[in-house]
Amino acid sequence: MKMMAISGRSGEETEIAEFLVSQLVAAGLPRDQIRFDSAHRRSPLGGQIGNMVLKLPGTMRAPRRMMSAHLDTVPICVGSNPVRRGNLVRSSAPRRGLGADNRAGCAVLLSAVLEILEKELPHPPLTLCWFVQEEVGLQGARAASRGLWGNPRLAFNWDGGAATKLTIGATGGYRTEITIRGIASHAGNHPEKGVSAIAIAGVAIADLQQNGWHGDVRKGAQCGTSNVGIIRGGAATNVVTDEVYVKTEARSHDPKFRKRILNEIERAFRRAVKSVRNVDGRTGSVSIRSTLDYESFLLPTDAACVKIAQAAVRAVGGEPQLAVANGGLDANWITAHGLPTVSLGCGQKNQHMESETLNLAQFKLACRAGLRIATGTEEVDD
Ligand SMILES: [Zn+2]
Repeated sequence: MKMMAISGRSGEETEIAEFLVSQLVAAGLPRDQIRFDSAHRRSPLGGQIGNMVLKLPGTMRAPRRMMSAHLDTVPICVGSNPVRRGNLVRSSAPRRGLGADNRAGCAVLLSAVLEILEKELPHPPLTLCWFVQEEVGLQGARAASRGLWGNPRLAFNWDGGAATKLTIGATGGYRTEITIRGIASHAGNHPEKGVSAIAIAGVAIADLQQNGWHGDVRKGAQCGTSNVGIIRGGAATNVVTDEVYVKTEARSHDPKFRKRILNEIERAFRRAVKSVRNVDGRTGSVSIRSTLDYESFLLPTDAACVKIAQAAVRAVGGEPQLAVANGGLDANWITAHGLPTVSLGCGQKNQHMESETLNLAQFKLACRAGLRIATGTEEVDD
């Protein structure tokens, strides 16, 4: 409840990190055992701090386990006022989301560590990682300094959704910014001297739509999605528009096909530029900038982390369900860094909305499953 009330949107995670540090120090952990990396310096957003990393030496010989969750919340959750009614927590502040995404995940990690410290529970070597800047394109996990992790072999990430949901894969996506430059001219007196950037954009988008590269994209057995999400341009009807800005995305679980969709988008705009000429034969120009937001991944169902997570959820009375996400998670980047990662929910619902709730029964189940994973006791049956 205290953590959800702390504001901490992406790049502004100092206050929530300090709260976690104070809880850990109060439980007897030396402050210098908690480290911060410099991921924020490699993020386009900048930001106050890097990822917070805590390494605990094991009391037993076993592969190191990493547990992670993201610290930041989306802007709508700034000013959240968590109120509990029965089994549900929501924000009572008007037009504010709760922020259980992902303070609940952060709390799963914190409660596991506090429980281990307080009860001196035996445990394998552990790395706890609280990532910054997840909500702005997975920047913290993407730029994480793996040197601080201590070579974990198994990884578990907590984020939104039901406590029994185990996400073993997620799609990958590109984002593309396109600036089309035409030639301005008087639309009434000399339209023939102009090159309309709006006409170019129109030709390109019609091309994508007519050839099956816009929206739900299916070519034989391959599939993905694309979307022209933003289009801006024009200032007056009596001027041939000389600049239009377009933003698109392309997603597919299949990296090759995702690249193909991206190429088709880029080619459509380059072709369209050549097809619109003024009376002197001049064309406009286009500049295109594409970035990979996150790489897709799909873990085999018998991956070690998946089996452990399934056993942990079962051990606390849940029925695990495997899922594949159509959006990015920190797990996309951790897996891309060479560490296969399963993600678990902790009872959040309607994330990023005013109506966000945290189900406390689900949250407690997530904490108990998290403790099983942290102590390597997932196989034990109560
Ligand atoms: Zn989240």
